[in-house]
Amino acid sequence: MTKPVSEQSEHLPQGWEMVIGLEVHAELATESKMFSPAKNEFGAAPNTNVHPVCLGLPGTLPVVNRKAVEYSIRIGLALGCEIGRCVWSRKNYFYPDMPKDYQISQYDLPLNGEGELELPSGLTIGIERAHMEEDTGKSTHVGESGRIHDAGYSLVDYNRSGVPLIEIVSKPDLRSPAQAKEYVEELRSVLVAVGASDGKMEEGSMRVDANVSVRPLGSDELRTRCEIKNVNSLRSLTRAIEYEAKRHVDLYDAEERPVQETRHWDEEAGRTRPGRSKENAEDYRYFPDPDLVPLEPSAEWIEEIRASLPALPKQRRESLMALGASALSAGVITQRDLDTLALETVELGADAAKVLKHCENNLADEQASQLDAPRFAALVKMESAGELTATQAKTVLAEMLESDKSPADIAAEHGFEAMDTSELEGLVSKVIEESPGEWQRFCEGDASVRGKLQGFFVGQIMKATQGKADGKAINKILAEKASS
Ligand code: MN
Repeated sequence: MTKPVSEQSEHLPQGWEMVIGLEVHAELATESKMFSPAKNEFGAAPNTNVHPVCLGLPGTLPVVNRKAVEYSIRIGLALGCEIGRCVWSRKNYFYPDMPKDYQISQYDLPLNGEGELELPSGLTIGIERAHMEEDTGKSTHVGESGRIHDAGYSLVDYNRSGVPLIEIVSKPDLRSPAQAKEYVEELRSVLVAVGASDGKMEEGSMRVDANVSVRPLGSDELRTRCEIKNVNSLRSLTRAIEYEAKRHVDLYDAEERPVQETRHWDEEAGRTRPGRSKENAEDYRYFPDPDLVPLEPSAEWIEEIRASLPALPKQRRESLMALGASALSAGVITQRDLDTLALETVELGADAAKVLKHCENNLADEQASQLDAPRFAALVKMESAGELTATQAKTVLAEMLESDKSPADIAAEHGFEAMDTSELEGLVSKVIEESPGEWQRFCEGDASVRGKLQGFFVGQIMKATQGKADGKAINKILAEKASS
């Protein structure tokens, strides 16, 4: 477990480091909303998934969605959070897309307390809390800029009003835009793995706000931060953090200081702009919601949920690393959801290194998840037996994704016959005879000369066989001939 250390930011002048904390809102994948029976569904016609509760009509009362609580506990367990008694609080503020004029959230007693998330790079990022709340509706400001200030009118869609959310708040442990990106990617993988959210940033079901400040390198002070909203892609997130941190350093250099405020990221202009000056918690007049009793999940229920959790991305990467994958390729393969396929294929006796290599380099295709282990194993075994070269195997694999044919049939259609060793030896001898000078230098040269000439000979033989020869077999024959 490694905590991030002070590091000079590559994006900032010498002597400065970034301090970044992220607040990630994720919509939970429930059928209905947090406190009402209206459908929780993306993309429906505006104002069709509504109910008196999520429209804030007088006389209605909220009823907690049990599934939403279960999903939140799944997330809490995956993040190693302390899970306990929590209280629903009203967060009061006015906005047209929030018809009750308050959002039901959790304040001093969240469902999930402190936890942590280990990133693929090995860094461990602290989690402050992961509380439940309801989403607001969605306003569309109709005007040239899409901003409220110069809009002719605004439209409100209450389909999103009351959708269950989890807000995961990290500690200010992140030190670079790259780490922030890695954190969001890993968190997204965890949410998807436990089945609690679809994690689709492009549909707004996962939204990230970044708290950014800077400080002199190595200091442990926390200076004034700004909260950047409106970042809806990982690219925007890294750009926004970089821009904002630079802005803070420029202010300090000019002997000014940043003011604590919410800022919006303007993707086109590539800059942040001030939004409302940041409210403090007191401004929201939080108080316990009198319509809802405190929620205290039983230890039994929590253990039942814990027992049903699938392997988390970290454990899945570790299984691949046990087969010899590097941390990086284990990450790529797990992200593509190909780790189960890889494990099953190796289980069937296929060479692990070759399986991992194909998963990382040749199976970026979306259809790859439909490949079944027995066919994949059959291909890798043909390759290991020297019946297919690496290049041929790649070609066959690509076609296996398009059809149900066996790798042997596809190889036969291409005329990828096994080139037998004596035939290959004959070819190698012929090429050696045609290039006596190169051969002499190959036999007498040091490792670097040999390496270059090996490339030359393999190239000649590949040319003569239209790429059907196996590079490794050629190297073996060359080495044998040189030492005899
Ligand atoms: Mn929130």
